[in-house]
Amino acid sequence: MEVEEQRNLRVEVEKIRQTKFFELEQIAEEVRKCRKCRLHKERRKAVPGEGCRDAHIMFIGEGPGRSEDQQGRPFVGQAGELLEELLASVGLSREEVFITNVVKCRPPNNRAPRKDEIRACRPYLQRQIVVIQPKVIGTLGNHATETLLGEAGIGRLHGKKYAYAGYVLIPLYHPAAGLYNPNLKPEMKEDMRRLVEER
Ligand code: URA
Ligand code: SF4
Repeated sequence: MEVEEQRNLRVEVEKIRQTKFFELEQIAEEVRKCRKCRLHKERRKAVPGEGCRDAHIMFIGEGPGRSEDQQGRPFVGQAGELLEELLASVGLSREEVFITNVVKCRPPNNRAPRKDEIRACRPYLQRQIVVIQPKVIGTLGNHATETLLGEAGIGRLHGKKYAYAGYVLIPLYHPAAGLYNPNLKPEMKEDMRRLVEER
C-alpha cells in the first residue's frame, strides 16, 4: 500500500511538472508572436527566457542585447559570460536557475526600455513568476529593480533583502557593470552568495 501510495504521489508531482513545462512553453510561444509594443518591429528574435521550471532562483534582466536578439536566448553575450562566472562562484550553472528579462524584445541600440514597453510586456514576466514560484528573485540592474521594486539606485539597493509578492527579492548589479568595472566583481560575488542563501 505504501509503495503504491508513493508511486501515485510521484505520478501527481510529475503531472504538475509537465503542466509547468507546457505553461512556460505557452508563454514563450505568445512572446515569439507578440506585437503588443513597438519593440516587436526591430527585433530579430524575441527572448522569452529559459531555465529550470523548478528553479528556486529566478534572474530578471533588463532586455535582450544584440547577441540575445540574434539567438533568441537570454544572457548569451559578454554580460551572460559574467553572469555564468558569478553563478559558478556559488556552485551553480545556468541550467539550475531561470533567466529572463523585463522586456522580451531588444530595444534598438540597447536603449533603456520605456515605461509603456515595460507595461505592455509585464504580464509575461508575471505569468513566468506564477508558474515557477521561485524562492528568491534576483533583479539584475537598475531597470529590472525599479520595475519590480518601484525604487531606483542599485548602488544603494544591491545585496539587500526585499519582499515582492511574497517572494524574497534581492537587487543585484547588472552583470554588464562588472565588465566595465572589474573592481565591482568581489561585491557582485558577495551579493550572489547572499542570494543563494535564500533559496
Ligand atoms: N542584458 C540584459 O539585461 N539581458 C540580457 O538578456 C542580456 C544582456
Ligand atoms: Fe511583446 Fe514584450 Fe516584445 Fe513588446 S517587448 S513586443 S510586449 S514581447
